[in-house]
Amino acid sequence: MSATQAVADRPDTEAATTYDAIIIGAGISGIHQLYRLRELGMKVRVFEAGTNVGGTWYWNRYPGARFDSESWTYGYSFSEELLKEWDWKEHFSPQPDNLEYLNLVADKFGLRPDMQFRSRVTAAHWNDAANQWTVTLESGETASARFLFTAIGILSAPTLPRIPGVESFRGPAHHTGCWPHTLVNFTGKRVGIIGTGATAIQAIPEIARQAQHLTVFQRRPNWAAPLHNSRISKAEMEEIKSRYAEIYARCAGTPGWFIHQPDPRKALDVPAEEREAFWEKLYAEPGFGIWMANFSDILVDEKANAAISEFIARKIRQRVKDPKVAEKLIPKDHGFGTRRVPLESGYFEAYNRDNVLLVDLNETPIEQITPGGIKTSEKEYEFDILVYATGYDGVTGAFDRIDFRGPGGVRLRDVWADGPRTYLGQLAEGFPNLLMVLGPHTARGNIPRAIEHSVEWQTGLLRFMREHNYIRVETRPEYVAEWTETVIKASEPLLSSKVDSWQTGVNRNVEGRSVRRVLGYNGNGVNYRRKTDEVAKGGYKEFVFR
Ligand SMILES: Cc1cc2nc3c(=O)[nH]c(=O)nc-3n(C[C@H](O)[C@H](O)[C@H](O)COP(=O)(O)OP(=O)(O)OC[C@H]3O[C@@H](n4cnc5c(N)ncnc54)[C@H](O)[C@@H]3O)c2cc1C
Repeated sequence: MSATQAVADRPDTEAATTYDAIIIGAGISGIHQLYRLRELGMKVRVFEAGTNVGGTWYWNRYPGARFDSESWTYGYSFSEELLKEWDWKEHFSPQPDNLEYLNLVADKFGLRPDMQFRSRVTAAHWNDAANQWTVTLESGETASARFLFTAIGILSAPTLPRIPGVESFRGPAHHTGCWPHTLVNFTGKRVGIIGTGATAIQAIPEIARQAQHLTVFQRRPNWAAPLHNSRISKAEMEEIKSRYAEIYARCAGTPGWFIHQPDPRKALDVPAEEREAFWEKLYAEPGFGIWMANFSDILVDEKANAAISEFIARKIRQRVKDPKVAEKLIPKDHGFGTRRVPLESGYFEAYNRDNVLLVDLNETPIEQITPGGIKTSEKEYEFDILVYATGYDGVTGAFDRIDFRGPGGVRLRDVWADGPRTYLGQLAEGFPNLLMVLGPHTARGNIPRAIEHSVEWQTGLLRFMREHNYIRVETRPEYVAEWTETVIKASEPLLSSKVDSWQTGVNRNVEGRSVRRVLGYNGNGVNYRRKTDEVAKGGYKEFVFR
């Protein structure tokens, strides 16, 4: 038995410090939830695996990491003072600025004293008699609380490629999601990068500019469209500040909680010339318009989707000089927008450089990572630095890494084996007082807007419990069944539900993650907001309280 296991098996109440609430994670979700719980006067502890706040923006320090949400739609809206104080410098803000922002929030609201860093939670066990959770940290330390909030992220469990020899490379090897805090100098170096997903698409143009040579190993291309980032002048920022209320109201009224509203027309109902002009316009504009402000049927109708995919493919062919390379970069197994679309800045042009080589792993698979580099079925490539842009075990990955046990020792991992079981994505079935900020089966999209909604809704629930002297809340099976059905039904018409991606729970680098699952509510953020508001206004009748 390992030391951690021994500690996890100790009686739950032994020597554990007790809080009103424990929050796991100090990213956007954890910071916001802590702020609200402190307002309620609760004694709260945040346990965070990293050495500081920031979550995604703490871990993902790779070159090129930045928002693809408009910066001014990403920040918190809960404090007028903060909105006035903080100036975004770019429309799609880079990681260092995002991290600076989150540090400012933690300092400004004096949140750090309630946060404990270098504290990875390995287990969380419910004590039915005491009505409380006990969490165990990697160090063996334990702590208990009546309420447990997960703020552990949907893209926070990085996965390495399942390739023999992955640990054997003798040079530096970095996953984009665990990037070193010191500068990685690519100058004069031969670099190999595995993966062509969202983080690779941001990193490749930057690394290509610095490295002596960059070899990109691609298993599966992704659609990508231009970000068109630009700086925000002082005057422009003042103007944005004057419109914050309007901006947030607009986000709340769109399906994905971005500023982008779909065009109600159907793609093929529009004359070809007009359709083409509309797509040209969207392609030339900043942000997710090409994905989210497009014709209403491109993500549900095969023909409409084939038309937009052909448009984007043409753009790739125009931008990449070598036609053979261009064809390799055009996805053939899924249509545009059916996986989350990475937005890029010079990604396709990077392949026009003499120092960049694309290796198609369908033609020459990797056999092994060696001390000197990467060996494919064709040859061995020598590298000084390796980059693993191999993504995350999405949505449920961070949950799977914690041993959650509910009443009777039931394990969350087992209950969710075929897919999450929740009510509204806020509480998991059978796990009392476990509140999930941005849990599976919530609406997502522009994530901080979804987080804010979760935090406010859960804070409202706690206020309600306090008013009624309740100490325990849990879901009712019939409503869990209803919500699960709603979530599954909402995903059925979407072409994305027929595609393997982190959003459908597929990750070939994780054992047992090859079957698609429905992990989010895709039935429009507006409907989700309405439904959750109704439940709150109706006095949370869908839950059992004690
Ligand atoms: C590269 C990248 C770019 C992104 N860009 C955008 C964007 O432009 N727009 C957008 O809407 N979304 C974006 N996202 C999604 C992004 O994750 C969210 O915007 C947001 O940061 C989520 O915040 P969070 O606090 O819920 O989770 P996270 O930021 O992931 O924070 C979770 C925290 O929990 C901690 N944690 C997890 N498990 C444990 C444990 N067992 N014990 C202790 N601590 C734990 C982690 O260390 C982490 O710090 C991006 C994601 C990535 C990876």
